[in-house]
Order: sequence, then structure tokens, then C-alpha cells
Amino acid sequence: MIRISDKAKCCGCLSCVNACPAQCIVPRRDREGFNYPVANPDLCIGCGKCEKVCPVLNPLQPVKPVEAYAARTTAVSTVGGQRSGDRSDGSSSGGIFPALAAKFIDDGGVVYGAAFAPDLTVEHIEVTDKEGLEKLKGSKYVQSELYSAYEEVRDHLNEGRKVLFSGTPCQTAGLKKYLGNQTEGLLTVDVACHGVPSPGLWEKYLKAFEESHQCKLKSVNFRDKTRSWRHYDVLYTKAPQEGDVKPEAIRIAAEDDIYLSLFRQDMTLRPSCYNCPARNGRSGSDITLADLWSVHKVAQHMDDDKGVSLVLVNSEQGKAHLEALAIEEICRIDPSEAVKENGGFATSMQMPPRREEFFKGVHSAKNLIKYMKDYVIRTPLHKKIYRKVRRALSKIKRRVVK
Ligand SMILES: Cc1cc2nc3c(=O)[nH]c(=O)nc-3n(C[C@H](O)[C@H](O)[C@H](O)COP(=O)(O)OP(=O)(O)OC[C@H]3O[C@@H](n4cnc5c(N)ncnc54)[C@H](O)[C@@H]3O)c2cc1C
Repeated sequence: MIRISDKAKCCGCLSCVNACPAQCIVPRRDREGFNYPVANPDLCIGCGKCEKVCPVLNPLQPVKPVEAYAARTTAVSTVGGQRSGDRSDGSSSGGIFPALAAKFIDDGGVVYGAAFAPDLTVEHIEVTDKEGLEKLKGSKYVQSELYSAYEEVRDHLNEGRKVLFSGTPCQTAGLKKYLGNQTEGLLTVDVACHGVPSPGLWEKYLKAFEESHQCKLKSVNFRDKTRSWRHYDVLYTKAPQEGDVKPEAIRIAAEDDIYLSLFRQDMTLRPSCYNCPARNGRSGSDITLADLWSVHKVAQHMDDDKGVSLVLVNSEQGKAHLEALAIEEICRIDPSEAVKENGGFATSMQMPPRREEFFKGVHSAKNLIKYMKDYVIRTPLHKKIYRKVRRALSKIKRRVVK
């Protein structure tokens, strides 16, 4: 029976919850706001399935990518099948995920991915039409609730339907373990993930943010590329008030956003993320998508600051699906060079020394925003100036190249 004595050894994929035939395991949030499986020994039938499907107890073998590409679609707007050149297309990188998913739907398949619920919590949902794909676009920096996604994927596959499952590497590994050999018709696409923040903390932060801005939020975009892909903003859009022509939005540069800064400084990640069991080709996915931060080195001609995806093709099946897209802007690159600027892809992030202290104080914090702000490591002024100058220079360089 699964028993979590060391939280660093549970990635929260909850394959054990889904696999238990006696339904004696339930997810329960801990004080940090992460889900962990809790088994009821009175109901346990001792079949051991929960342990067999655990990707931490039985890690998948690492796979080296077959090929790597720099790629982007011309900002696919999936609404009505229209393509737009708008750089704020809703995707975080080069929009390869929505392109793959749209093709899958055209072919009659079902797509699973992470979406914001109306209350802005993050959950995995099923999508069967292109309009629905809008919800899956973009990175949500919160560990998503999977609910019954694994079971639904299995049922669809049993009915002979094609399924595209997208998620973090640990969610993909969990699904693979849960399904065993039953993977006919399944395509898995994971995102290169340096870690997932606590859903409990996100909910508290949202509440505090709304209180401090005296508003209700309608949507959040963690990766708004309108100004720049490399130096993106977080966009909080308020729920429209009566008489509003356009809902008001609050735009905060990523480096100034408190929630995002703590995420990027690895303060709010799940304990298992500091020793991720599924990174570096161990998720079993067919395709891995990432931001190609090294684009200026490995595919300079594509560096227009609108977002380029790094596509790691891990299987022949993945390769066939990518080729079927016939992407216009794609170029083959060296996988080892490409991931050099993706910190956390090959190795796990280091746990900050004050992480435990941070989570301990969250519950008693009177002013959560201020409390969180005190844990953000501030960028020294000289570094800020250096970044600004570098940003301006790269803008000029891109204009000259054009
Ligand atoms: C938590 C997280 C951490 C990441 N860390 C890195 C990193 O360190 N380095 C890097 O290069 N790239 C990272 N990425 C991936 C990157 O930001 C893009 O998501 C990826 O390049 C795909 O971009 P796209 O433009 O092709 O499609 P997009 O439209 O951006 O695709 C969105 C995809 O992300 C999935 N997704 C979004 N949020 C979640 C979530 N909370 N849980 C599970 N799946 C989710 C959706 O299901 C969909 O498949 C991270 C993504 C997430 C969600």
C-alpha cells in the first residue's frame, strides 16, 4: 500500500489513486497546498497496484531525443481555423502545441491538457473541438488537478479513439505507468518543466491579489508576449464591470511579479521537483516542447522575439506527427546545444535554503502579498541596468537584421 513518508518522493501524478481497484486512495492537500495520496488501510485489498504504477518507485528509462527542431507556427489562432500573425497568440513559445492538437482534432482525436477553470484554478480537461483548444494554450504555472483524466484517456483508447495527452513530465510518466501496454492510439506531449508551484498557494495568492486590487479577475496570462517573448509580462484581466467597453487589465513585467518571481526563483515548487523523477527524457513522451531560449545561437534567423519552440522528438511516432503538420518555419538543430539555456531540463533545480521557512509562514501571514515579497530575491541595480541595455541592444540588432 502506498504510504508517503518522504514528500520529496511523491510527484503528485496520482496514478496510484486512479489505479486502485478498491478506490481506497484519495488525494489530500498538505499544508503547503500540494496533493498527496492517502490510502485507507481498512479498505486496501493488498493488490500492490498503487506501487506498481508509481513513476518514482519504478522510474522510466531515460530516452535520448531522436531529433530536435527550432519551430514556430505563424501564431495559430484556432478560433474558426483563422491564422493570425499576432505575437500575443496565447501560446508561450512557438505555438507548436496548439498546432499538434488542432491536427489531432481534425483527425477525430481527443486532446487533454491543462486549462484555467472559471475560478482560475488549474485543471486537466478534455477537448474535442478547436474552440476548446484556446483554453489549453499557454503555460499555467500551477500544478494542475488531474481528476479522472487518466481513466478517461484509458476509456477512450479502449473505444479505439486517438488521444493526445499533454502535461508535465511527471504527469506523462504517471499516465504511461497507469496505462502499461495499453497505449495504442496515444500520443504524449510533455513540456520541459523546471517545477510546479503549489495550487494551494496559487489560490491564496489570487484571493490576496483580488483584495489588494479590489477587483475580481477574469483571466490570467502568465506569459503575455505582446511586448516581448523573452521579457514577457503577466497579464491579469479584471472581470468586466457594467458599462466597461473593454475589461481592464493589469500588466506586470515577469521580473516584477511576486508570484512569478518566487516560481522562477524555485521557492514555491513541489518538494519532488528538486529531484524530479521524470526529467531529461524519463517521462516516456513522444514529443517534448520547450522555449528555445538559445534561439539567438542555434537558429538566429528565427529570433524575432515572438516566441520559438524547442521541439524534442523522442519517438518515431512523435516524428510522424510533427512531419504531418508541415510547419513552414522549422529547422533542425543539435539537441545538446539547444537545451543548454534551459536550466532545469537536464538537472533538477536546487531547493532554496528558505523554502521550508517560506511555506511555514504562509498560513499565518497577515498580508500575503507583502509576506511573499519579502522572500523575493531582488535583482541588484547593476544587473537591472545591464539587462535593460542588453534588451535595447538586441532590439536594435533584430531591426538591423530585418
Ligand atoms: C509548469 C511549467 C514549467 C515550465 N518550465 C519550462 C522551463 O523551465 N523551460 C522551458 O523551456 N519550458 C518550460 N515550460 C514549457 C514552455 O513554457 C511551453 O509550455 C512549451 O514550450 C510549449 O509551448 P507552445 O508555444 O508550443 O504551446 P502552448 O500553447 O504554450 O502550450 C501549452 C501546453 O502546456 C501545457 N500546460 C500548461 N500549463 C500546464 C500545467 N500547469 N501543467 C501541465 N501542463 C500544462 C498545456 O496542456 C499545453 O500542452 C514550462 C511549462 C509549464 C506548464
